[in-house]
Amino acid sequence: MHEYSLIQSLLDVVDAEARSRGATAVHHLRVQVGELSGVETELLASAYELFREHTSCAGADLEIVPVPARWGCPDCGAEIVRGDVLRCAACARPAQLETGDEILLERIEMEVA
Ligand SMILES: [Zn+2]
Repeated sequence: MHEYSLIQSLLDVVDAEARSRGATAVHHLRVQVGELSGVETELLASAYELFREHTSCAGADLEIVPVPARWGCPDCGAEIVRGDVLRCAACARPAQLETGDEILLERIEMEVA
């Protein structure tokens, strides 16, 4: 499952980060999940519960922040509202997706000895 491999690479990243900083514990993770990333946040949360044991994240909660999709004009930067035609009213340029398809590890809170 997509979510499982995401969580596994997330845990790898956090593990490496914690090790390189000499952290004794990780307390909190915050991950942004774009609306169009194709990731089910519930599946992501349960995959995390499943895999975090015996990692540096065993005692850390995972906060998942959904990021709504947003489009903009690549020329003038005008925001293009969802539901409208996905084209800039001023320049007639096709809209460009600005946020909404990303998965981003935004923040790691850890304890450093
Ligand atoms: Zn425009």
